[in-house]
Amino acid sequence: MKNFIRIILEGTYINFKRIIFASDRVTDMELRSSILEGRVLPTDKVADIACIGCAGCSNVCPTQAVEMIDLEEPVELMEGWVKTQIPVLNSEKCVNCYYCHDFCPLYALFGEAGTIHPNDVGKVESDIEKLLEKPVKISEDKLAFIAQFLADKSIIKKKTTKKSS
Ligand code: SF4
Ligand code: SF4
Repeated sequence: MKNFIRIILEGTYINFKRIIFASDRVTDMELRSSILEGRVLPTDKVADIACIGCAGCSNVCPTQAVEMIDLEEPVELMEGWVKTQIPVLNSEKCVNCYYCHDFCPLYALFGEAGTIHPNDVGKVESDIEKLLEKPVKISEDKLAFIAQFLADKSIIKKKTTKKSS
């Protein structure tokens, strides 16, 4: 345990030296200045375009770290389905539990890359219309569970209708 604490402290000290004094030149001067001036932007945590605005991530977050904000212009994703909001993830409130990611319908329902992630969403290029054509591959129980958290329950209805038709 003592060793473990020592390793952590040494690691913190080394990184501190690298950023503040550019020792070892691991962090170059340009990056060092960017960090100190607050110009290093955090990576995207929500893929706005692929997000369908269901608010599931916001409803499931245990720390209220995800806020749904109104879009200036609502987007019609498909007939009868208009996206009016998108989530914004507040890293200061996030405890990295990954519930938001696991509950995102793109991930949970469609098995595609989720559009929200506490660290980085990566590249998400899902075509919502095509996804809706895919059959549901999860159990009714899980569907019911997920449905509790979705603001737009029609997502589940559409999926189950397609499945039963
Ligand atoms: S990972 Fe963060 S934002 Fe996502 S549900 Fe957990 S606390 Fe909320
Ligand atoms: S759960 Fe996924 S699709 Fe729904 S609002 Fe959050 S990021 Fe968007």
